Amino acid sequence: MTESKFPLDKTRNIGIAAHIDAGKTTTTERILFYTGRVHRLGSVDEGTATMDWMPQEKERGITIVAAATSCYWRRLHDNELFRINIIDTPGHVDFTAEVERALRVLDGMIAVFCGVGGVEPQSETVWRQANKYSVPRIAFVNKLDRVGSDFFTVVQQMRERLGANAVPIQLPIGRESDFKGVVDLIEMKAIYWVDELGTQMEFGPVPEDMKELAMEYRQRLVEVAAEQDDELMEAYFEQGDLTPSQIRQGLRKGTLSFKVVPVLCGSALKNKGVQPLLDAVCDFLPSPLDIGVVRGTNPLTGEVIERKLTDEEPFCALAFKIQTDPYVGRLVYLRVYSGVLKKGESVYNPGKDTNERIMRILRMHANYREDVDEARAGDIVAVVGPKVTMTGDTLCDKAHPILLEQIEFPEPVIFRVIEAKDRAHEERMVEALQKLVAEDPTLRLRYDQETGQLVLAGMGELQLEIVEDRLRREFGVQARLGKPQVAFRETIAQEAIAEGRYIRQTGGRGQYGHVWLKVEPLPRGAGFEFVNQITGGVIPSEFIPAVEKGVREAMEAGVLAGYPVVDVRVTLFDGSYHEVDSSELAFKLAAEIAFKEACKQAGMILLEPIMALEVLIPKEYLGDVLGDLTARRAKIKGVQELTGNAVMIEAEVPLAEVFGYATSLRSLTQGRGSYTMRPSHYEPVPMNIAERIVLDRGYSMSYYATSLVGASND
Ligand code: GDP
Repeated sequence: MTESKFPLDKTRNIGIAAHIDAGKTTTTERILFYTGRVHRLGSVDEGTATMDWMPQEKERGITIVAAATSCYWRRLHDNELFRINIIDTPGHVDFTAEVERALRVLDGMIAVFCGVGGVEPQSETVWRQANKYSVPRIAFVNKLDRVGSDFFTVVQQMRERLGANAVPIQLPIGRESDFKGVVDLIEMKAIYWVDELGTQMEFGPVPEDMKELAMEYRQRLVEVAAEQDDELMEAYFEQGDLTPSQIRQGLRKGTLSFKVVPVLCGSALKNKGVQPLLDAVCDFLPSPLDIGVVRGTNPLTGEVIERKLTDEEPFCALAFKIQTDPYVGRLVYLRVYSGVLKKGESVYNPGKDTNERIMRILRMHANYREDVDEARAGDIVAVVGPKVTMTGDTLCDKAHPILLEQIEFPEPVIFRVIEAKDRAHEERMVEALQKLVAEDPTLRLRYDQETGQLVLAGMGELQLEIVEDRLRREFGVQARLGKPQVAFRETIAQEAIAEGRYIRQTGGRGQYGHVWLKVEPLPRGAGFEFVNQITGGVIPSEFIPAVEKGVREAMEAGVLAGYPVVDVRVTLFDGSYHEVDSSELAFKLAAEIAFKEACKQAGMILLEPIMALEVLIPKEYLGDVLGDLTARRAKIKGVQELTGNAVMIEAEVPLAEVFGYATSLRSLTQGRGSYTMRPSHYEPVPMNIAERIVLDRGYSMSYYATSLVGASND
């Protein structure tokens, strides 16, 4: 079988998700080892793990970048060869956008749980995201060698907290330091790992003292499998049992339809349980064929189209990650949905309406890259060549264009000025920053005209700190971040109309632009809409785009405090022109004048980003932590008692109030509390606080909505 013709039904595109510290990196590392691609066991503790290749990931012990890695596995029970592409999903919630984009392109997931910590609040976040993207899952309860680990409790928690139909297909043999193997409930046999590296497995009968328990669990397993399919149910009634292959068939069906989550167990660190986990990936998680079709639109007609995920259909792929590689340059990671992509070919980017040449196709392994000549439906590869393709873009066959659904990225909520240590570093810093920004669509870089400073914007404090780190380590650039600042927005309080005239007619060729605009508030998060109601040539159609452009430019800095204006509909409903003097520039300027005036008439409100916060603490600190949150203008959404002595607080809190929260929480709870935070939505800033912000920025409160209502009553 040649590499490129690898059968789709034997291909698995998976992600591994876990709460931080549950053992995702170690499990991934072991998978790469047992699949024969990594020849030396790396260890997270020594900072040599293969997937986490960026130095600061090792230092911080978190995984940031979604890298895709291919490996091959021969299934134990029938020796069939499978190709597994692993898409790395970061665990830290500051990187939610990374998780979401990874979920978009993978077909199935291994959820790793810590055998001691069990289902923690943060694992619930990823679980919910996987639900949203309908990703079938299997679970791996890890760290069963640790004191205090308990397989059965974790299974119970998965049922109660995640609402998952968690069904063990294995039971652990021995506890804690005596953990030595598992009972395979499908085959009803014991598996022991006998050597240090876990490469030698011994099979034997189910231990005497576990027979009863194993029978009980197997019985449940068989029933669950039978319930998934009428034929299996019939077979079960007739035989009173199911064969191992029938059980697998039923479980596979249940997993693919989200009714069942098969649960396995082991200890990645002690090299136990990983090979059966790989079997389960092949047995239960979907192949690209199971996904069936991908939907998109025809960019020319807007018509919705479906593509079967096969080689025979025209080529289409989604770019889900851009990385700058020091040796090969700009790498674009692609999930190929249909058709075949050949090296040297030109493909079409319908979003950007350009052709891109594919110079190289690379299959990324954990520690080397392999040049291949083609990539086929269902595959995940990295390509070199595309110049303008960004994360979320579609690449396709020009003769059969399709635009796949875009990945949505939230707008940045936090920004910090970034400065090079000295002149010598400045140019290199800008160059490096541009590369980093190209890799991460939630990261923005802009030049502030007024202050002459570079501003870096993103989704959280940690994300920006990591940029600073990468600058230093990867690019040798010393940079300093300024104080974190909130990305406020402005919006209008009500409807208003205004006129804009830009007319200069003194001698020679003049300027003539004249418009009437209406502004209306849109629901929060709706962004911007432009409506043109001009018919019959009051303004020639060639000038209309200039009007929209003028409005867009004016929206970049609102009249209240100079923050971007959002959530407005702008309607162009009247105006006039001059045969000779009218120009695009004149209409653009007229539109800017009209828009600003309309905003002043409508009155403005200041909006601030609100973060969804989950705080996990020992119960005795509840009072103090709640008190502190209230002082930070938080809305408490709920307090949940967890097992042990822990409680989880869910709250919404303005970003402005939680800078440096990590430090405060640490001191409030003597280092025992933890939290996660992600941008949720925007809300109006209370007036007294808004006033301070507006005045600080050197603006006045004259266009603030309430003062205006007062004024109009006069
Ligand atoms: P991640 O944050 O989910 O990627 O977790 P890591 O793989 O980095 O593991 C976190 C810590 O748990 C590291 O110190 C690992 O050595 C340790 N660890 C991982 N798996 C096991 C296991 O099976 N047993 C024990 N005792 N420790 C483990």
